[in-house]
Amino acid sequence: MKKREFLKLSGIVGAGAIVAPFIACGGRGDSPKEMPADTPKDRLIHTPFEQAALGFNYSDLEPHIDAMTMEIHYEKHHGGYVKKLNAALEESPDLQGLNIADLMAAINADETAVRNNGGGHYNHSLYWKVISPGGANQPSGELADAINAAFGSYTAFAETFSKAAMTRFGSGWAWLSVDNAGKLFVSSTPNQDNPHMVGIVEQPGLPILGIDVWEHAYYLNYQNKRGDYVNAFLDLINWDEVSKRYSEVSA
Ligand code: MN
Repeated sequence: MKKREFLKLSGIVGAGAIVAPFIACGGRGDSPKEMPADTPKDRLIHTPFEQAALGFNYSDLEPHIDAMTMEIHYEKHHGGYVKKLNAALEESPDLQGLNIADLMAAINADETAVRNNGGGHYNHSLYWKVISPGGANQPSGELADAINAAFGSYTAFAETFSKAAMTRFGSGWAWLSVDNAGKLFVSSTPNQDNPHMVGIVEQPGLPILGIDVWEHAYYLNYQNKRGDYVNAFLDLINWDEVSKRYSEVSA
């Protein structure tokens, strides 16, 4: 499916805060000034991008994820993607001025530096939120209903999600996303790609949960045992945060 077709189709999901600009960004050079006056402020983040505060301590996810992994992952890996993204955007004026989600949808496959580092920034920003301490440890309400409708049960979802994470060869991510018909699906992507990247990934959509399966996310504590890390991640998920994202994209 061509990028513009998907952006048009995605309109049937609804006119939620995240979806509306997703539709609006079909072309390059959409100035934030052209967006509706009621566009939430966080949709108008301009370059240069900044790494948001983590919002919790590096040790808060122990024993599931150790403090040193968190520190290196947040400061060196994510921090590095943000620096390199900003440097890459200086060379790509036509991609400047978009918020991070719209930037993802606007990238072409051969724009490697923005694709890898922009994906790195978007993906990690989501990851820190969905594993933040606290929140429900099981989905409930509308999200639980949608998970049951799409997968049959939470257990079946967890199996599908784990399998996607385990079978991603090399480095990448597994996702729970909403498709352009409003239905949940699980997918995985290589490197720092993500489902926002219309025209690049096989299954485009709006991600609400993502697990980083690069070795840097787990190697210090789990070495080659990716499965143990995936199980720990499932225990860590802050389902209140995932629900919030689900209601934003399915409103
Ligand atoms: Mn990572």
